[in-house]
Amino acid sequence: MNQNNKFDLHLHSGCSNDGEFSVNELLQMANSQDYDYIAVCDHNTIAGVSAFLSLPPIALKTRLIPGIEIDCAYQGKHLHILGLGIKPERVVERNLFANHTKQESEQEKIRLLDLFRRARAKGLLFDDDRVWMLAGVSGASGAQRIPCIEVLAAALLEDPRNNDHPLLAPYRPRGPRSGMPEFYFYLDHGKKDGFLVTKREYQDASWAIKTIHASGGKAILAHPGGYHYFSPELLESLMNEGLEGLEVLSSYHDLAMSKDYFQLAKERKIFVSGGSDFHGRWKPTVKMGIEGASTSISTGTSTSKSAWLSQVLDDIFKLVKSL
Ligand SMILES: [Zn+2]
Ligand SMILES: [Zn+2]
Repeated sequence: MNQNNKFDLHLHSGCSNDGEFSVNELLQMANSQDYDYIAVCDHNTIAGVSAFLSLPPIALKTRLIPGIEIDCAYQGKHLHILGLGIKPERVVERNLFANHTKQESEQEKIRLLDLFRRARAKGLLFDDDRVWMLAGVSGASGAQRIPCIEVLAAALLEDPRNNDHPLLAPYRPRGPRSGMPEFYFYLDHGKKDGFLVTKREYQDASWAIKTIHASGGKAILAHPGGYHYFSPELLESLMNEGLEGLEVLSSYHDLAMSKDYFQLAKERKIFVSGGSDFHGRWKPTVKMGIEGASTSISTGTSTSKSAWLSQVLDDIFKLVKSL
């Protein structure tokens, strides 16, 4: 039983382009909230986790589960696959993700030029330097982060030359998308058929799954509710490639979605996972913590929440113990 355990299996550190805090800061935050386990899964890099593990060990209740979140594609569909419980020393020793990290960074730089061109074609104004400055550097590695769409949105919203641009109106104070303006701008325009969706190459999902296994981790499909093309058939194909689990609780999901994904994971007999996808500043309403991961779970009635949720948490704890 998980009754006495508290965990969050999907957090980002500042080594993600859209992250903020160091791994050490995440652990301190989690520790002060009495977490037993957190998994840090940065986009396509283990730099933050490795930097933390090279420091002298600190005595905390909260244990770090090293992870990674890999951008990849399967049957032409862009997916995020989590590698949970990877062994960073094995990753370094066998040079498992170094090329991928480098290639992703190069691809993201090329994509950024395309994003800039697309934004300007809509009459949106910004200075390239300002966008790079807002992206900032990662505290752990000192590396310049490559601006993500949320950062571009921040530059567009603060530039007075865009004050009357209708495209930005929903993200202004009191607008319908003002709650998390930068993140909603990304969801509205950087996904599906949004004007900032760019074509780019990704590593194949089968490579991602194999490399996660070679790293000693388990391969879990992140936030299925984040893909409009997710289907049980897609999950089954990925299982044939070696995928072992599904992220059932996520800030991308509402309660109904989480219930569907839980049932699907149980039917297919794969691991159930859950994480907030906490990033910090660019997703300010997404907090650390698994119970708030699906908004309606935290606002649901306590009876409907406890029976179902404790079942889900029990299952997620089985995954934690297997890592
Ligand atoms: Zn993701
Ligand atoms: Zn994530």
